[in-house]
Amino acid sequence: MNVPYLDLPAQIRSIRPALDAAIARTLDTCSFCLGPDVVQFEKAFAAYVGSKHCIGFNSGTSALHVAMRILDIGPGDEVITTPFTFIATSWAIDYVGAKPVYVDIDEQTMNLDVRLLEKAITIRTKAVMPVHLFGHPFDVDPVLEICRRHGLPLVEDAAQAHGATYKGKTVGAFGVMSGFSFYPGKNLGACGEGGALLTDRSDFAKRAASLREHGSSVRYFHDEVGYNYRMEGIQGAVLNVKLPHMGEWTARRRAIAHRYHALLAGTPLVLPREAPNCESVFHLYVARHPKRDQLKEFLQAKGIGTALHYPKTLHLQKCFEKLGYKAGDFPVSERAADGCISLPVFPQMTDEQVDYVAAMICEFKGW
Ligand SMILES: *Cc1c(COP(=O)(O)O)cnc(C)c1O
Repeated sequence: MNVPYLDLPAQIRSIRPALDAAIARTLDTCSFCLGPDVVQFEKAFAAYVGSKHCIGFNSGTSALHVAMRILDIGPGDEVITTPFTFIATSWAIDYVGAKPVYVDIDEQTMNLDVRLLEKAITIRTKAVMPVHLFGHPFDVDPVLEICRRHGLPLVEDAAQAHGATYKGKTVGAFGVMSGFSFYPGKNLGACGEGGALLTDRSDFAKRAASLREHGSSVRYFHDEVGYNYRMEGIQGAVLNVKLPHMGEWTARRRAIAHRYHALLAGTPLVLPREAPNCESVFHLYVARHPKRDQLKEFLQAKGIGTALHYPKTLHLQKCFEKLGYKAGDFPVSERAADGCISLPVFPQMTDEQVDYVAAMICEFKGW
């Protein structure tokens, strides 16, 4: 049997006629940059998250960058985040000239360890931006409580967590702003790049709309330095087709994760578990073991694709040498980077495929 790490063609096949029709309509109207499809998607996605405003972007990175601009964060400022995530969270901070300040992660959820948060706050801290990593919510309430106590805005990086819930409420509506990504491999993916900024504040929404469009709300009049960060019309059309499937796709991801959990419970792998009050959307199914390289190779030989998220923590990346961190500064993150292995999880995956992956892991003797 063959189990690809991600079978995007299978997802596209499952909705192909609707995608073809939606893209054809955009070709007919030629509304390629923003336009009615994007507006329709913004309304629908805001409702999906439970936020007042959604502003469509050309990527999740752009949305997070603009969130930093809206908070007027700049040189000399610090923003707290974690070193165990995709690097884009830190790009947003670096792009405005501010410094990412890292806090280590919780051993179980691999999200920001709330117990370490307060110690990282300084006079220069301007915001806290944790990540709902792998689709699992970070511990929102204690983070919000600390933010409130210090008068700091919370920005959620929800790029991997479309539809995840914390205490029954969808993530992305807890902070003053949140950023989502619609990169093709994300739980909700465009046919190309895409992202969104969500907020309840209409002043932030207005500024986000202006910053994504050359710092302009009236054409050819520019209030501040902006960007070309618009969402493409075709991506809006594609996302409108895909959004209604999210309930079914997320349920399937969760079922696959629970099936893995039952089948792999007896193995030496450390399995991802949901924290109380949290429903993960399992963007990724990341297990951990020190022998993951050997396991990865073994599974490869059995026709099973796996991936590493993420093999190198951000504080040890070459580009962030300037931050002055060193190996050993964030031991839980570093251990996670050394031990992580992502198993296939995508909505079109069959039970037979899940069973095969689990059976092959049980066959591995190199622990
Ligand atoms: C994907 C991702 C982003 C960036 O999104 P893009 O749309 O690829 O720019 C930001 N943060 C996290 C955690 C991500 O996984």
